[in-house]
Amino acid sequence: MTGSIKGIERFESPGKGRGLRVTKAFKVGELLFSCPAFSHVLSVKERGYYCEFCFTRKEGLAKCGKCKKAFYCNVKCQKADWAMHKLECSAITAFGEKWCPSEMTRLVARILAKTKSQKERCVSEKILLIGEMQSHVEDVDNENREMNEGNIAELHQFYSKHLDFPDHKDLLTLFSQVACNGFTIEDDELSHLGTAVYPDVALINHSCLPSVIVTYKGTSAEIRAVQNMKPGDEVLISYIDLLYPTDDRNNRLRESYYFSCDCQECKTKSKDKKKLKLRKRSDPIEPEVVNNMVRYARKSIREFRACKNIKTPGELLEMCEHSMEEMGSVFDDSNVYMLHMVYQAMGVCLYMEDVEGAIRYGEKILKPYFQLYPPFSLNVSSIYLKMGRLYMVMDRNSVGVGLLKKALAIMEVTHGKDHLYLAELRKEIAQK
Ligand SMILES: [Zn+2]
Ligand SMILES: [Zn+2]
Ligand SMILES: [Zn+2]
Repeated sequence: MTGSIKGIERFESPGKGRGLRVTKAFKVGELLFSCPAFSHVLSVKERGYYCEFCFTRKEGLAKCGKCKKAFYCNVKCQKADWAMHKLECSAITAFGEKWCPSEMTRLVARILAKTKSQKERCVSEKILLIGEMQSHVEDVDNENREMNEGNIAELHQFYSKHLDFPDHKDLLTLFSQVACNGFTIEDDELSHLGTAVYPDVALINHSCLPSVIVTYKGTSAEIRAVQNMKPGDEVLISYIDLLYPTDDRNNRLRESYYFSCDCQECKTKSKDKKKLKLRKRSDPIEPEVVNNMVRYARKSIREFRACKNIKTPGELLEMCEHSMEEMGSVFDDSNVYMLHMVYQAMGVCLYMEDVEGAIRYGEKILKPYFQLYPPFSLNVSSIYLKMGRLYMVMDRNSVGVGLLKKALAIMEVTHGKDHLYLAELRKEIAQK
């Protein structure tokens, strides 16, 4: 670890390699540790809403006078960010509309700039940690390899003025390291704000029954217990969305992180039956019919993802409705594949500012989400928040407040009682 953290130590986790475990007891909601970002980058779509340096959200941020694309709380934040922003400032102006590196490329450019300047000072422990992050470069499949090659091309195109690059092989390693170990910073409704690397958090292994959860305060990651932990317990987070059944979770883990999970839930599959609940029919449904429908569902999910940025909102809604109708002959409304499509449809409605439509879809999600996710889940708190706020917009305040209070109860554990999001939420509740 970058330093010693009280109550936490590194150890060799059987079958998993390095990991973290606690040396003292932690209660649900207790902070294990907080970790500043080694490097972070704000999403292009959030420019102007959040400070590029500290990720504070507020009105009236001050613009970078040169590129007019980066925004800051004040001169102090701007000065502190310059070592990173200067990698992009002049290029943004020079390339204009054609400036379009991926968020991954932007983050890697920052890591390269930072490790360079730290090496100049002296050998930093943090560089070693970045070097230590697992890369699995030999496991990378064609699709991921192509993406990494694309990112390297962008790096040369947009950042060559300010950076000396290591050779191609080392760059490939760095990109796969960051792909496996990068964290998405999200807000209270799980909107994507940016990407960052946290060397200490990258040491935490995965479980589908996580003992801790990661949330963000500004650009720092905070790790809190979501289960009571006793000395010797491993610190475990979930790398993936836990809604889906065991096979889907493990496919996802293999595709993105190159391992399969052997946690208790993956062994017993205790929630799979509920997650794949079938429609009640007088005649029993043949296993083959179910299997075919699962295949259809997975294909629909992939197709929707591929079309998300191409098709119109109307066409996307139609895709959701069509696949729900198909699946509805076999699957119950609470089946996770149905829920996946309902959630996407809700997202499309939100995008179109169709509040009533979003509420109609959201209502179908609330109860099954609560039943299928672990007790302290950001997926559950964020749906309560979204729905609560939508009901407030419709002046249905008592329903809205009820949902916001449910979100608050989860977030007191996941975010800590003094987080800014909770202060804002208490204010929203008090106003009505
Ligand atoms: Zn700031
Ligand atoms: Zn600038
Ligand atoms: Zn598992």
